[in-house]
Amino acid sequence: MNIKENLEKLRQYIPKKVKLVAVSKYKPVETILEAFQAGQHIFGENKAQELSAKQALLPSGIEWHFIGHLQSNKVKYIAPFVTLIHSVDSLKLLKEINKQAVNNQRVIDCLLQFHIAEEETKFGFSLLEAEAMIGNPEFSNFKNIRICGVMGMATFTDDQSQVRKEFRHLHNIFQQLKKKYFIDIEYFKEISMGMSGDFQTAIEEGSTLVRIGTAIFGER
Ligand SMILES: *Cc1c(COP(=O)(O)O)cnc(C)c1O
Repeated sequence: MNIKENLEKLRQYIPKKVKLVAVSKYKPVETILEAFQAGQHIFGENKAQELSAKQALLPSGIEWHFIGHLQSNKVKYIAPFVTLIHSVDSLKLLKEINKQAVNNQRVIDCLLQFHIAEEETKFGFSLLEAEAMIGNPEFSNFKNIRICGVMGMATFTDDQSQVRKEFRHLHNIFQQLKKKYFIDIEYFKEISMGMSGDFQTAIEEGSTLVRIGTAIFGER
């Protein structure tokens, strides 16, 4: 497994304006360092304590994204340094992120995660649920959070037409929210979608952030 070669190959398929998040979950710090030295600067992890432990050992030039389900009581581990939390799925979580951001005198960028797949197990809002949250008076009081866009995971299937339909749905949700609530917010611009098996479809459907693990680091 040659990480540098994998990254070079991948970048041929990813337009410059689309950011690549290298998903390094379960991978040791040596492996992450190798990718960093090959020019990869954004990494994604899905466990708060694992992320915090790795961050402490690795160069400060790395931009860390949180991509998994986040429990409110774990936010404190990543609040001092995390660049983007992709997976906000409740008002309760947002409230805790804001609180920890205040404690750290930071503003933390977040994406709202939407449930676009057929599988029951994937977390995320429906459009209605998200609108209910945005309409909650508490939501506008979160001064240390910026909502920068949306995130979603497609159904795990070989059927790219199904996957495409789901990504198109997420893009549509993004556009509706933008128009209704974030029209003048210049930083509401991100659509995080696409993994190793479906990133090309995601890019065709408007992804601005792809989250790729296996195609860089091999099977976990
Ligand atoms: C693990 C993971 C990825 C990366 O998946 P690969 O198929 O290895 O590219 C992307 N997004 C999330 C939320 C993940 O948990």
